[in-house]
Amino acid sequence: MKIDWNDIDTVLLDMDGTILDRHFDDHFWLEHAPKRWAERNHVPLEQAKEHLYNLFRSQENTLNWTDLDYWSDRLGMDIPLLKREVEHLIAVHPYVIEFLLFLKHAGKTVWLVTNAHSKTLDLKMKNTRIGPYFDGIISAHQVGLPKEDPGFWRKLQDYISYVPERTLLGEDSETNLATAQGFSIRYLVYISRYSSTVEPRQSDQFATIDYFNRLIPEKGCSSITISA
Ligand SMILES: [Mg+2]
Repeated sequence: MKIDWNDIDTVLLDMDGTILDRHFDDHFWLEHAPKRWAERNHVPLEQAKEHLYNLFRSQENTLNWTDLDYWSDRLGMDIPLLKREVEHLIAVHPYVIEFLLFLKHAGKTVWLVTNAHSKTLDLKMKNTRIGPYFDGIISAHQVGLPKEDPGFWRKLQDYISYVPERTLLGEDSETNLATAQGFSIRYLVYISRYSSTVEPRQSDQFATIDYFNRLIPEKGCSSITISA
């Protein structure tokens, strides 16, 4: 895929996995929450994992999936408090700040568009201080639909104005890239190194980058090509 930055006005970026290391989230939900739940309910860790993983699966692709109040209720634990126990794992991916500075200098409008709940957003913005690099932040909880919903990208236009044909979206979810494709967002980029602990894998459907420096053109040049 060829990207000429002269053809793009708006950049939409996902948060977890895209600009922030998803190792924090994966570790929290797959290891830390089950560990605390096992201690609290006096059950073996393996049993706690099986129980929680089933609960998580039952809420995939819904707003409950990222709703910390829902999970605090459902699991009988203070999830925001537990997240703070492992907040040292919250990290910005390499080259993200360089890319955001490039976008700013190029005069692009940049929105953080996330399924994350306001309490997760608060914790991550406090830890990374990345908020000021964006023109604004939109949570799917404000929009009322998760990004997995085919209606999301249209409804997003009630909150921000963007021309799909002149917009680039960066995501570590191929499902969300597919719903954006359904709304004709033109430049769709899959982030393969969503966690510092995974081996990157090229998407079969979307142009793929490991790090955002791949989208920064050489000086004096406005376009780059990435493999699709
Ligand atoms: Mg993500």
